[in-house]
Amino acid sequence: MTAKTNATTCIRRADWAIVWDEARGGHAYRRGADIAFAGGRIVHAGGRYDGAVAREIDGTGFLAMPGLINVHCHPSGAPIFRGFTEEFGNPRLFYSSRHHFRQAFVTDVAAQQAAARFALCELLAGGVTTIVDLSHAYPGWLDLLAESGIRACAAPMYRSAEWYTDTGQETQYRWAADDGRAAFAEAIATMDEADRHPCGRLTSMVSPAQVDTCSESLLRDSIALAKRTDRPLHIHAAQSYAEFQGMTRRHPGVTPIEFLDRVGILDERTMLGHAVFTDAHPWLHWPTRRDVDLLASRRVSIAHCPTVFARDGSLLHDLGIYLARGINVGIGTDTHPHNLLEEMRNAETLARVAAGPTHSTSTADLFACATTGGARVLRRGDLGRLAAGARADLALVALDHPAMQPLYDPLRSLVYAAAERAIRHVFVDGRQVVEDGTVTTLDRAEAVRALGMAQTRIAADVGRHDPEGRPIETLAPRALPIVG
Ligand SMILES: [Zn+2]
Repeated sequence: MTAKTNATTCIRRADWAIVWDEARGGHAYRRGADIAFAGGRIVHAGGRYDGAVAREIDGTGFLAMPGLINVHCHPSGAPIFRGFTEEFGNPRLFYSSRHHFRQAFVTDVAAQQAAARFALCELLAGGVTTIVDLSHAYPGWLDLLAESGIRACAAPMYRSAEWYTDTGQETQYRWAADDGRAAFAEAIATMDEADRHPCGRLTSMVSPAQVDTCSESLLRDSIALAKRTDRPLHIHAAQSYAEFQGMTRRHPGVTPIEFLDRVGILDERTMLGHAVFTDAHPWLHWPTRRDVDLLASRRVSIAHCPTVFARDGSLLHDLGIYLARGINVGIGTDTHPHNLLEEMRNAETLARVAAGPTHSTSTADLFACATTGGARVLRRGDLGRLAAGARADLALVALDHPAMQPLYDPLRSLVYAAAERAIRHVFVDGRQVVEDGTVTTLDRAEAVRALGMAQTRIAADVGRHDPEGRPIETLAPRALPIVG
């Protein structure tokens, strides 16, 4: 099933399609739709397409939908922690218990590359066609993104300080002598390289890593760079209880979000991961209620990644309020798995949990966040929708998969039951990257094998890095003991 991308491909009479309804300014279902694309661009999404067609795909039994946009993921980091970190929780609120584990579980370039290859397969097979990849730059990064066929915004992270903990009681900071300037320069070079990459599907984002690990001067220079080069900017902020307490001690009376506003970071080009611990979060008992209004008035986007927070027992309060205030929300996975459909399910379910009987979000809202919300973050009106003129980034969902049945509402079946299991074919820029559920651009079996080997190798070395010499089984006990 290959065709030259400049020849026209037509998905003929898809049983269902989620097309862009210009009149309503939103997604809508259409039955019996033809979706035609050529040269990487959609030329038709609607009724019968009468133009010349080089390749025809029978749309019977399929839902055609725009490819999903994952606005916050760490492909080079997250997958290798599978099995180790899901149950860490946060027994002492003033630090993240992950610091102990992360100090001892020391990854390397080979592990980063293996993790990223694994994650890219998981993303594509799950119907994701665009990602914001937040990584510390590693050799081969941009070429791997290009090889995968995905559309990617490379977000090379840099910072002035690293986290550590001596006592296990609080987050401590090891400030770099150069304030992170060498890392900033390296990130700038990587961003330039991404923008120039010959594959044409890479862009870049200015990415000071976290609000509490970057000096004020590094932050000011970061937003200046973003404005000068017309790039979006991402920063982790208001993402933990520990960060909120640390920042309000460092800047008395000023929340992390107010601090970012003071240094000029809050802007419509800015996305915050994750704006969970605003002054309205009930754990904080903070006396003001200004942060959400500030985010709305500055037209900031947020990257909402509920799964990783739910694993720690916390959640954003509440998504419906953010949306009602007009804050743009994109969805990301942050942790593993890179399953954006399950993330949408968690986002919608947890929004109801957070709001209780006053909940106001809907499946349609979350689908918009995972498509056009992400496109707005990237300032790309040509992504996240099936409409003539948009890029040909789309997925075909198998309606006959048992998990999609019974089929009254295909989007609800997909989000609440089937998730990635029903994703059959995926196209990015008109090129098929998943065929019959198999990633065509990367060797997924080999990626699985390489990541497993890297995880085993690094886990075996944990005792050498842990200050108390503890083995991996002590630092991260399995869910059940092994008795035989
Ligand atoms: Zn993150």
